[in-house]
Amino acid sequence: MEVEGKAAIVTGASRGVGQATALRLAKLGCSVLVNYSASADAAQKVAAEAEALGVKAIPFRANVSNNEDCVAMVAEATKAFGRLDILVNNAGTTRFIAHHDLDAVEDETWDEIMGVNLKGPFNCTRAARKALVESGSGEVVMTSSVAGLAGTGSSIPYCASKAALNNMTVTLARVMAPDVRVNAIAPGFIDGEWLAEGLGEAYEPIRKSYMSKAPLGRVATPDIVAHAIVSLITGPDLTTGHVIPVEGGALIG
Ligand code: NDP
Repeated sequence: MEVEGKAAIVTGASRGVGQATALRLAKLGCSVLVNYSASADAAQKVAAEAEALGVKAIPFRANVSNNEDCVAMVAEATKAFGRLDILVNNAGTTRFIAHHDLDAVEDETWDEIMGVNLKGPFNCTRAARKALVESGSGEVVMTSSVAGLAGTGSSIPYCASKAALNNMTVTLARVMAPDVRVNAIAPGFIDGEWLAEGLGEAYEPIRKSYMSKAPLGRVATPDIVAHAIVSLITGPDLTTGHVIPVEGGALIG
């Protein structure tokens, strides 16, 4: 799809992959709603940077696990841009809990992670459905994770949430067709705050170990993942319901 003149919502766009995706879309001439849940100043800066690229851009606070917030966010985007063509369900959260430590996983951990990582994309897609169908060639991209394919990652609830998101990518692709495509990108290790903060001193050793196992010998950056997301949107339009790993070949390493 040609994105110039189109409009997008990118959830979790105050930093990391979401920020990089919002700015890549803006560079291509696509207006963008920069969603965040807590980081208002950062989201404001991303929106200002996008606007400096010549498109409309608005920061918008919405907790994606809250349905009313998602409905209000879509209403704001369609009011501001007059249309909605692209939804990038990128917002995500986790807890870093060793998999063997089952007792450390609390009910709240499940509720928080499934709420943001699974219910969030559902809420946003449902809220955006009408506008995306009206667009005539709507696009939904989920930011999933290899955690959902391999069962390795920050915690068991996180892996389960991304596996469920991969499954929901298939079911939503069926019901949103033929007017809207739904796909997912599954990154592996991404250089950035998320893993640096979560892994602490283990960050560098795990990064090195990941690179030594991945055939391409590299980890991703937020911008590489953003490139993959935007390529899915702008590339050939006969793919729907699929999860595309962006992991340096780690899954086959
Ligand atoms: P960051 O922590 O850098 O960014 C997360 C973003 O999500 C922030 O903008 C945050 O905004 C937003 N967010 C968190 N909770 C909510 C919520 N309830 N509602 C709305 N926004 C929310 O993470 P990354 O950029 O690294 O991760 C982006 C996606 O990539 C996630 O889905 C993650 O699971 C996935 N991923 C990440 C990997 C990695 O190695 N980092 C690997 C594989 C997948 P705020 O601060 O305002 O809440």
